[in-house]
Amino acid sequence: PLVLGIETSCDETGVGIVRGHTLLADAIASSVDEHARFGGVVPEVASRAHLEAMTPTVDRALADAGVTLNDIDAIAVTAGPGLAGALLVGVAAAKAYSLGLGKPLYGVNHLAAHVAVDQLEHGALPKPCVALLVSGGHSSLLLVPDVASDVRPLGATVDDAAGEAFDKVARVLDLGFPGGPYIDRAAREGDPGSVFFPRGKYDDGTYDFSFSGLKTAVARWVEARERAGEPVPVADVAAAFQEAVVDVLTKKAIAACNDNGVSHLLIGGGVAANSRLRALAQERCDAAGIQLRVPRPKLCTDNGAMVAALGSELVASGLAPSDLGLPADSSLPITQVLV
Ligand code: ATP
Ligand code: MG
Ligand code: FE
Repeated sequence: PLVLGIETSCDETGVGIVRGHTLLADAIASSVDEHARFGGVVPEVASRAHLEAMTPTVDRALADAGVTLNDIDAIAVTAGPGLAGALLVGVAAAKAYSLGLGKPLYGVNHLAAHVAVDQLEHGALPKPCVALLVSGGHSSLLLVPDVASDVRPLGATVDDAAGEAFDKVARVLDLGFPGGPYIDRAAREGDPGSVFFPRGKYDDGTYDFSFSGLKTAVARWVEARERAGEPVPVADVAAAFQEAVVDVLTKKAIAACNDNGVSHLLIGGGVAANSRLRALAQERCDAAGIQLRVPRPKLCTDNGAMVAALGSELVASGLAPSDLGLPADSSLPITQVLV
């Protein structure tokens, strides 16, 4: 079946088309530039941008895939979690396409879609796998017996998400927004061992994370330099901060695999695009005999293909589609894959 997926949970209007595990189109319109001067996503601006971008992005995806609307067999849409107004635009559009075409509608969980997207690159997910989900709004470790129906939280951040920490530290260092890619780039020229920043909850025996202490430690360190009238070594601070984040993420991800007897680790979400996270995870998985799967960077950040990928999995699983009364749920729990 040909599945069209719609993503509007944050500032990306994404429309993907997949058949099984084959990616046919992944069209994206982003309002990120409109938010940059505010240093964060402005919900009303994002909703308005989704409205304007929705139809053109669907048309572009259809053209890229070389299909027409009548060829589509099912519609999938991000039902949550995310910005309420932004989600509503995608859900309303998906309902209209579903009703107009007479094709089933699947309201899906954005976080589960960040996991399912890897199937487009590396084929069927091993059952079970452990997923490290690290993005702008979330940082969790999940046990995933079946991404269509059974996703279990092992731990999560108790304060900031990893991506949020990247974005806040980038602001302290006067880098651009969103900060992740800027820190990633700056860190390549820096020495990760130049400063040791604290790793929150490193040895607490849980699968939880904490990044707000680290963020504050970086801000204090930079302030002290500035007060002393000394230049801030941006590349070194970026590298040392990034190392602290990826050290604790990979340590806990490997522990989650070992403790649960799981031999496959998947990393998803926007922060999975980070080059140092990818490298250190590979190194530590190799040492632990764990198979690592990370989608290519473009599939890690928000996109429509991931929603289509999860929709495709749900169609294959034979689960009943969503009701046309499907609500958008800004705080949809990870345990609810299909709404
Ligand atoms: P969520 O999925 O929790 O709703 P989100 O939808 O805001 O979050 P994603 O696209 O999944 O967004 O992730 C965006 C986050 O990923 C931002 O915080 C961004 O800084 C971060 N990010 C993107 N690329 C990189 C990178 N190379 N290194 C580190 N972080 C990155
Ligand atoms: Mg974004
Ligand atoms: Fe996301």
